[in-house]
Amino acid sequence: MRTIDKLIKLYGNRCLACGVKHMKYGQTLTVDHIIPKSLGGSDEISNLQPLCSRCNRSKWKTPYDCRERFITLIHRAEKYILRNQIEFDEIINEIRTIT
Ligand SMILES: [Zn+2]
Repeated sequence: MRTIDKLIKLYGNRCLACGVKHMKYGQTLTVDHIIPKSLGGSDEISNLQPLCSRCNRSKWKTPYDCRERFITLIHRAEKYILRNQIEFDEIINEIRTIT
């Protein structure tokens, strides 16, 4: 599996910055280095995040990690799932559309 495919799967087919779904509205997800390679960032998956081409183009000059917000959403979703016994994918999609 290519790195981009792994990343896309790991983060639920979405851009971590704007939440757009892969291949929707013509947006293709790309690999973004959280710490740029020019600043010594690695190609390890821990330094990568999926961003749509639009977000990647308008990317911040300084390293910007979108994963913190994403992880907060995941934790919120997990609590909700435990309480309500529902499918993970169902709720994660729901939460993303309202935040
Ligand atoms: Zn985006």
